[in-house]
Amino acid sequence: MKFTFITLFQELIDGYFKDSILARAIEKELFSIEYTNPRDYTKNKHKKVDDYAVGGGAGLTLMPQPFFDLLHDLKQKEQQTPCIIVVSPAGKPFRQSDAIRLSKKKHIVFISGRYEGIDERVVEKYADEVFSIGDYILTGGELPSLVMCDAIVRNIDGVLGNLNSLQEESFNDLLLEAPSFSKPAVFNCISTPSEYLKGNHSKISR
Ligand code: SAM
Repeated sequence: MKFTFITLFQELIDGYFKDSILARAIEKELFSIEYTNPRDYTKNKHKKVDDYAVGGGAGLTLMPQPFFDLLHDLKQKEQQTPCIIVVSPAGKPFRQSDAIRLSKKKHIVFISGRYEGIDERVVEKYADEVFSIGDYILTGGELPSLVMCDAIVRNIDGVLGNLNSLQEESFNDLLLEAPSFSKPAVFNCISTPSEYLKGNHSKISR
């Protein structure tokens, strides 16, 4: 599976894949990551990618031209049609069921907005899905893209060592996983609940 991040700030995303479970999964070629910068596609002589909004309003909006050219290029290059996701506070809420469904795709493209957001014509022409990660405003789309990518890749076969980790996880069946206690069973005079001490994991986990 491949992920392409369309972003002005690749370095905000890149570090997250350099360690731990996700770095090992990339090494095992379970998924791969690519970046494309809209600034490389701008026809503006000052390499500008944003401009004032038509009709006024505070702040700058990402212009359509670099995104149209970039996405046209990307779609021509790819043999399989990618699933293009725009992250936006106006999108539908991203859920665990979306993470599981999207983990079956071959190629996902995340488009990160910045400033006041992306020109809506980009969304209308190219987005297959628009997702929000919650009812609050972040500075840019890099964190939401990363959050979604992380939630998706956990569901790719082999990324997590133990398959049970996935099955028992919160939201898998609309329930929450039971709280966890590591050893020792009694720490600082506080004991784990008695059901845990009996070792009946199936009873604890639901
Ligand atoms: N002016 C926009 C509004 O009021 O809805 C907010 C733009 S925000 C500062 C810049 C970019 O961050 C957005 O285009 C989007 O890509 C991303 N973003 C911010 N909050 C988000 C959220 N809750 N979910 C998904 N993306 C978000």
